[in-house]
Amino acid sequence: MAHQLETKLIHAGEPQPRIEGAVTVPIFQSAMFETAGGTGYHDLRYIRLNNTPNHRALHEKLAALENAEDAVVMASGMAAITTTLLTVLSAGDHLLAQDCLYGGTHDFLTQDLRGFGITFDFLEGDDPNDWQRQVRPETKAIYVESMTNPTLQVTDLAAVASFAKSHGLVSIIDNTFASPVNYRPSEWGYDLSLHSCTKYLNGHSDIVAGAVIGRADLIQNVTHKLNHLGGSLDPHACFLLYRGMKTLAVRVKYQNESAMTLGKFFDAHPAVSKVNYPGLPTHPAYQRSCELFDGFGGMLSIELEGGVEAATRFMQKATLPLIAPSLGGVETLMTRPAATSHAGMLPEDRQKVGVTDSLIRVSVGIEATEDLVADFDQALAS
Ligand SMILES: *Cc1c(COP(=O)(O)O)cnc(C)c1O
Repeated sequence: MAHQLETKLIHAGEPQPRIEGAVTVPIFQSAMFETAGGTGYHDLRYIRLNNTPNHRALHEKLAALENAEDAVVMASGMAAITTTLLTVLSAGDHLLAQDCLYGGTHDFLTQDLRGFGITFDFLEGDDPNDWQRQVRPETKAIYVESMTNPTLQVTDLAAVASFAKSHGLVSIIDNTFASPVNYRPSEWGYDLSLHSCTKYLNGHSDIVAGAVIGRADLIQNVTHKLNHLGGSLDPHACFLLYRGMKTLAVRVKYQNESAMTLGKFFDAHPAVSKVNYPGLPTHPAYQRSCELFDGFGGMLSIELEGGVEAATRFMQKATLPLIAPSLGGVETLMTRPAATSHAGMLPEDRQKVGVTDSLIRVSVGIEATEDLVADFDQALAS
């Protein structure tokens, strides 16, 4: 019987029968396992080959969550991204990628890909006719994010997947911001979905991990590349990720609601000049977001009247949010991307993608919504 996501979070991937009757999967802190009938290198059971009981339980649960064929975990979100790109692309190949990518991904494309003999172009706008002009015979893949950082743009994700299909490209999406609760790329025709599990999937700001979820043949190729590149996840981190994931649905649904309430609060506040949140009717892709997502996520960004000075004052005055990078944990975090995650970009490039100097990004935690509203309200009053 097919279960709902909430049920799969608890029950999918559990070893049957349970190990010694243990209700949770214990940590298998053993580098290698006795050889059991495998025929090749990739069949050896060894932590780096990502096939210990802790890895296997995670792979099954992750694939089940996104209704995909298979999954593999890695040492970080960036390991998932780079291992996937280096699996799908070889020297001579070309990649089409959305602009305004996660900073690490942007830097890998712009600084490192060329060294592997791989070229890329950024997609211009939302129009498949534009993409048509950029696609080449050597184009092998198309790469997007479900919601972009930090301006929460939502591109036409359905059109990207069908464009990829009709041109024989591997479609890859970084689904970190939406999480499997709000968006499941396989259901929309994507070949591979990537996650920084550091964020919502783990949710407790205490490990770094990544995952690739999708088509079984591609996951097998990615796993073989990973076995060579070596970015495997330690069993203890596997255990923490597995534990964190069990509460993913209750956390993300609460964060969806809290972010919506905060978005409306900011939208109505005279000191706030702009709110970026895909759940607000003022968002340029609001209609599309309603069709794509089961929830609008826990990330939003705002601009204040009064520029950088007002922004830094507001961040100092707010007492509950921590000022820290990263996102998706139980505690509310704030950053000013122009000074942190996007500081390496040229100011004019930042402007082009909507990252103004006064933009503040908020990762909404699971504190009481009323307490957050009250705190932001007093911080805006000053
Ligand atoms: C954080 C993040 C990454 C990188 O993940 P790490 O776990 O830090 O390596 C990639 N994509 C997005 C959208 C992220 O937010």
